[in-house]
Parts: sequence; structure tokens; C-alpha cells
Amino acid sequence: MTKLAPNIQKYMTLTDCPYCHNTSATEVANNPRIVKCNICSLYRPLPRINKDGQIFLLKKFNDEIDLAERINLLERGNGERDPAADKKL
Ligand SMILES: [Zn+2]
Repeated sequence: MTKLAPNIQKYMTLTDCPYCHNTSATEVANNPRIVKCNICSLYRPLPRINKDGQIFLLKKFNDEIDLAERINLLERGNGERDPAADKKL
């Protein structure tokens, strides 16, 4: 994910609330910057990623992650997590 950070900054362009589209908000956290909408109270990152950025990330992860290579945790059958599976994530 750290490799992606420089590439996604150009997609972080949206400043409105995704629920009510109001742009007035109160900052509640910094780094990352999180705001609370002054109309509907929805918490959101500011700025947030646009549609082109979402498509970029979906395509990138679909290309890089091969689900067939992932270990199926259900195959162990004892309910324990396999540490090797966590390393694959
Ligand atoms: Zn809102």
C-alpha cells in the first residue's frame, strides 16, 4: 500500500460529503485528515478519493492479487488462523 501512496494523491480531489454533498465540515482528526459533515454528521476523509482513483485501485489490486494463490482458512477445519495465511495478505 505504501507503494501506492504517491500515485493516489492525484485522485484525492473530492471535498464534498458523499451523503449530502455539503462541503461545510468540522475537522476532528489530522494525519489523516478526518472531518465531520456539519449537515448530516457523516465522518469522512478530506479530501477523499474520486471515481477515477477507485477504478485505478480496483484494477491495480485485481492485477496484483491472485485469489487462487491464497490459502483457504476453511480447509484447516480446526478454526485456528494459519499464520502463513496472514503473511500472504
Ligand atoms: Zn453530509
